[in-house]
Amino acid sequence: MIIHHVSENNSVLNQFLSEIRDTGIQKDRMRFRKNIERIGEVLGYELSKTLVYHQKEITTPLGSLKMSLPQEDVVICSILRAGIPLHNGLLNYFDRAGSSFISAYRHHPDNEIDFEIVVEYLASPSLENKTLILADPMLATGRSLVSVFEALKKMGTPREVHLVSVIAATKGIEYVASGVPEDTHLWIATIDEELNDHGYIVPGLGDAGDLAFGEKL
Ligand code: URA
Repeated sequence: MIIHHVSENNSVLNQFLSEIRDTGIQKDRMRFRKNIERIGEVLGYELSKTLVYHQKEITTPLGSLKMSLPQEDVVICSILRAGIPLHNGLLNYFDRAGSSFISAYRHHPDNEIDFEIVVEYLASPSLENKTLILADPMLATGRSLVSVFEALKKMGTPREVHLVSVIAATKGIEYVASGVPEDTHLWIATIDEELNDHGYIVPGLGDAGDLAFGEKL
């Protein structure tokens, strides 16, 4: 897996990241969603530099010129529900992208600690030969991302795959790397070292879905 750790270089991205982590700010849901969306825009912009470009003749009122434009074959897939603000940020930059939505949740059959990933809802255009951008804001254990990647295989084989996450745990990155093709790109805003017993990223930010949309029962 090819890892792009975007906050390695200082930028305004750090501001957005600090606000989604900060307990004094993150509870403002609209601001939380907006910051995740802005992070999606930054990551989308960075990954756009690696896409395939082709020359197109553009006519202006005063003349014409050739411009290099990205190939328009992108499908953005997000994991419900926490992925929605990140999805919106990516869509802001990939105007004509198709959208896939998939649900994945942690089911705890026996106790609070052990869980299995249940993938249920999937609505997607064909992924055959497409540039697939798979967005999940919190790459914790990596198990949801790998389960979703497996579930998407029946929708066709993408030409290239870009995983996009806001915060990743080191262990989760290692798990995902073992479950996806070697040439998969991972665009990650920032990396935290720890995972707690409940599979939450530490220091992380808490539950991204709850912060964006309200606590679930
Ligand atoms: N999902 C979250 O929302 N937060 C985590 O820390 C891990 C998974």
